[in-house]
Amino acid sequence: MNLPSTHGIDAVHVDWARIRADFPLLERTVNGKPLVYLDSANTGQKPAAVIEAVDDFYRRHNANVSRAVHTLGSEATEVYEGARKKLARFLNVRADELVLCSGTTFAINLVAYSWALPRLRSGDVILVSRMEHHANIVPWQLVVQRTGAEIRVAEILPDGTLDLAALYAAMTSEVKLLAVTHVSNVLGTVNPVREICREARKRGIATVVDGSQAAPHRPVDVAAIGCDFYAVTGHKMCGPTGTGALWARREHLAAMPPFIGGGEMIKEVSFDGTVFNDPPHKFEAGTPNIAGFVGLGAAVDYLEGVGLANVEARETELLAHATEELKKIDGLRIFGEAPEKAAVISFLVEGAHAHDLATLLDLEGVAVRSGQHCAHPLLQYFGVAATLRASFAFYNTHEEIEAFVAALNKARKLLG
Ligand code: PMP
Repeated sequence: MNLPSTHGIDAVHVDWARIRADFPLLERTVNGKPLVYLDSANTGQKPAAVIEAVDDFYRRHNANVSRAVHTLGSEATEVYEGARKKLARFLNVRADELVLCSGTTFAINLVAYSWALPRLRSGDVILVSRMEHHANIVPWQLVVQRTGAEIRVAEILPDGTLDLAALYAAMTSEVKLLAVTHVSNVLGTVNPVREICREARKRGIATVVDGSQAAPHRPVDVAAIGCDFYAVTGHKMCGPTGTGALWARREHLAAMPPFIGGGEMIKEVSFDGTVFNDPPHKFEAGTPNIAGFVGLGAAVDYLEGVGLANVEARETELLAHATEELKKIDGLRIFGEAPEKAAVISFLVEGAHAHDLATLLDLEGVAVRSGQHCAHPLLQYFGVAATLRASFAFYNTHEEIEAFVAALNKARKLLG
């Protein structure tokens, strides 16, 4: 694997204040208070390097990719393909196995429509964990509607860990596909995807891993995970919205029919038929989000510069601090206390509605998400209609955690 440049250095040696200063938006105020942005699981903030890369592309290089032989056209193609190479290196996969797309939702739908739909039939089972985001549930329901296959749910334990014994017991011969998240966007649970994929592979089950909440926060080595498909989304990785990728094993990409047809994905078209381009281009019809991928390439450079091991260490430290402070609050319940946990805290405070608290926190400049976090089945398991979710990134500070907890105590008093 290509290790980040600062890999192995303890997080305390990184100048986090300088890194935070790279994010212009974090300087702003909200409702007259310094912004405390605790919604990075929803979307991440962008460093100046990313904003400037997008700006520079539109100011100096803007042209379409792959179509023009003129200088701007080749510059645009070079940066777009350059982003693919950077992302491939970042995930430790081959660039020609990486389909660039608008994000995880598109990536999983691509697997659903091009891999699952032609293969599955009545009697087959898609195994899905209880903690999946809707993006890793609804596409499978669409497949099930059309094929007669069924969805089976792999349950979780009360602390928010995946029930591995139950998961392996559910991997019967009817199961053709397992869809599982690497890190839960609600509970923060880090699933042992390497072990899970190994067990699935032994039984001939293909695996789709949703890496949306993993790739921005810890070193990810997709080759070592050993899955069949891995999906990432750029906007949570300091990159622009509308960018992401699906990595798939080359034998799958070769066998899968295109999902969307149009320009760019063909070698030759006549009214008698079309010869498709080779993967990954076969899956990239139409003009892509070129500037977005320029930004994503810059985001990958940026994250590698900080070092993913440092990011993980820093966020683990912020999680521990925030958890300790929140636990001091009477009547506060945390959802998800898995031993392996990313910096996401879902919680409720007795007697206070999640949306009311989030609104009061916003008045103090604190941005947290309230609601169901695109994970209705998970909230149904806990029997709650909504939670608040504070999610952290390496650019957050210990002072922000204190400001958040103070704002929460103030809001609680107002509501109580
Ligand atoms: N899966 C998970 C675990 C997520 O957190 C998200 C974003 N909230 C998605 C999928 C959807 O990704 P995208 O925004 O790229 O559609």
